[in-house]
Amino acid sequence: MIWIHNRRLLAFCVAAFLFAGRGFAGDSAAEWAAVVTPTKTLAGQSIGGYAAGCIGGAVALPLSGIGYQVMRVSRHRYYGHADLIRFVRHMGEFVADEGLGSLLVGDLGQPRGGPTPSGHRSHQTGLDVDIWFLTLSQSNNRLLTEHEREVWRAPSMIKADSGKIDHEQWTDADAKILQMAASQPEVDRVFVNPGIKRELCERNADLSAAWLRKIRPWWKHDDHFHVRLKCPDGNSHCNNQEPLPEGLGCGASLAWWFSKEAQLPGRKTQSPQPALPALCEQIINGEALAQQ
Ligand SMILES: [Zn+2]
Repeated sequence: MIWIHNRRLLAFCVAAFLFAGRGFAGDSAAEWAAVVTPTKTLAGQSIGGYAAGCIGGAVALPLSGIGYQVMRVSRHRYYGHADLIRFVRHMGEFVADEGLGSLLVGDLGQPRGGPTPSGHRSHQTGLDVDIWFLTLSQSNNRLLTEHEREVWRAPSMIKADSGKIDHEQWTDADAKILQMAASQPEVDRVFVNPGIKRELCERNADLSAAWLRKIRPWWKHDDHFHVRLKCPDGNSHCNNQEPLPEGLGCGASLAWWFSKEAQLPGRKTQSPQPALPALCEQIINGEALAQQ
């Protein structure tokens, strides 16, 4: 038996034991959105799955930093696991070092994660982040005002009529940023519009790039990419997504996205929010874990 010397960790383990196997119906998304502070418990525990979970000990991303700026600040979705905050800052530094401009960062998660009233199914465990395709290049780089951060709209990289990449918008810098993001070992996958995946597959003719496998086609995602981290080390209540399929995803599986079947409206309908893990009841009810 491992000697548990950290009282908070001990409390967490006891709670985990007591609640193991019991589902939590989940408070409404509005209740999760109403909580404005993270729990202070531990050093970040992502609990459950990306689309049915929560997080204890989340960290706020500073609203501006080297090479990045947070958008839609009023939504209060700039919290995440410390690993996610580190990832975003690292990406910002990369963009600044390369002289590419500034990343505009959309939603991470709510202070305690959980379902959001609008916009996403995932982003519930503090391990997902949306980043706009490059909008502030080096030549027009500046700090945006609070108002601009609320009202600017992310430009689409895809032509609405053909579903193909729009070369008026898309640049090599976007490809470079995606490659950098997908190359990070903590990144599980990156979701982009199928048209963007196709562009990357066509440009990497040797198809030997391991990072390309992590870039996955998904609906929408024409004006931002979505980075999903793996469950962090020591987060034993965190559920990873199923492993990536074999191959780089440039062949038949990509072609499916351009088929008639993929365009059927029913494909995009969403099932109801699944129950959250029982531990999330502890997280939303606040300091039961934090005050130990
Ligand atoms: Zn997203």
